[in-house]
Amino acid sequence: QIDPASLKAFGDVAAGHDGVLSDESGGLVIKPCTAKEIAFYEAAPKQSPDFAKYIPTYMGTLQLNKPAEATDPTTSSSTAPDPTATTAAGTAATLSLDEAGPMFGKALTTETSIVLENVAARFRKPNILDLKLGAQLWDDAAKPEKRARLDKVSAETTSGSLGFRVAGMRVYGARGDAPEHKASDYMSMDSVTGYRVYNKMYGRVFNADNVNEAFKEYVTAPGVTAAHAKKVFGILEEDVKGIEAALMGMECRMYSASILFVYEGDVEGYEKAVKDYEANPPAQSDDDDDEEEDTFPRLTAVKLIDFAHASFVPRQGPDENALQGVRSVGKILHDLQAA
Ligand code: ADP
Ligand code: MN
Repeated sequence: QIDPASLKAFGDVAAGHDGVLSDESGGLVIKPCTAKEIAFYEAAPKQSPDFAKYIPTYMGTLQLNKPAEATDPTTSSSTAPDPTATTAAGTAATLSLDEAGPMFGKALTTETSIVLENVAARFRKPNILDLKLGAQLWDDAAKPEKRARLDKVSAETTSGSLGFRVAGMRVYGARGDAPEHKASDYMSMDSVTGYRVYNKMYGRVFNADNVNEAFKEYVTAPGVTAAHAKKVFGILEEDVKGIEAALMGMECRMYSASILFVYEGDVEGYEKAVKDYEANPPAQSDDDDDEEEDTFPRLTAVKLIDFAHASFVPRQGPDENALQGVRSVGKILHDLQAA
């Protein structure tokens, strides 16, 4: 059961639209979604258990009031509760009506949000990279204008040449070699959170030959040695290979979906947690294989996300459009470990 009044803006986003929310515990991500995305999450476990491992756990949907067209910035709120909020299970969500004030007198329109596992939860300082898949970025529903616009972006970026591009990135801490670095058009330092934030234009300047620089930038962080970076790349590559295998056994089309990378940006904290764990392992029951995975300190997480334009297509074969990007990412991660 989710109390809409307790939802807060989700800070650990690498790219995409505004309006992504999280719950009080931080374990959930709640974002406005399309009917297509819900249908995809609902069908995925039946379509392929292998694939389901690589997408966030789907918790259901939530009806929230649409952010009011803000006329007065002091009263606009994107998280004001909506009396009709329900969870997927159909249980009425808790309300605190005093916070519904800003909506008074306005037409109350609701929109459907999807409730997902937060892939960045349980990381101290999640470093996040969003890699948008596909040379073709639009589905059949897109109007000619949209197709043309996205085709142009694709042709000008690694979307066209490699089947993926860097959509956005967040990395904790200053770059070691340039602690006083200046913000650019593509990157700014968030002085509140201590993250370097790379916007959607950052990934558009790379070409097929130099996009590995973005991956290096992703692991340029306090405490990340060359050896540690290789370890991270190695684990990410394993997961990308797993995604490739799962997609090869599936018949779907996912336009503009993303691979979401997360790794622990608090390297010292991670290493200490591993030592503490090893010195004092929590009691485990033999019959629960998942338990270690749930309690061992996390170094990385890799998931496919963003299925607003994804669907299953029986008898049409694997999604070569997405697979091209997945393979390109795998190759770059592989080569970076040899370098
Ligand atoms: P859109 O691009 O359509 O706005 P996305 O699904 O790509 O929506 O989400 C936007 C951003 O929110 C992503 O780049 C990612 O950083 C973050 N995000 C989305 N879903 C999750 C999730 N389940 N766990 C963690 N972060 C997420
Ligand atoms: Mn996205």
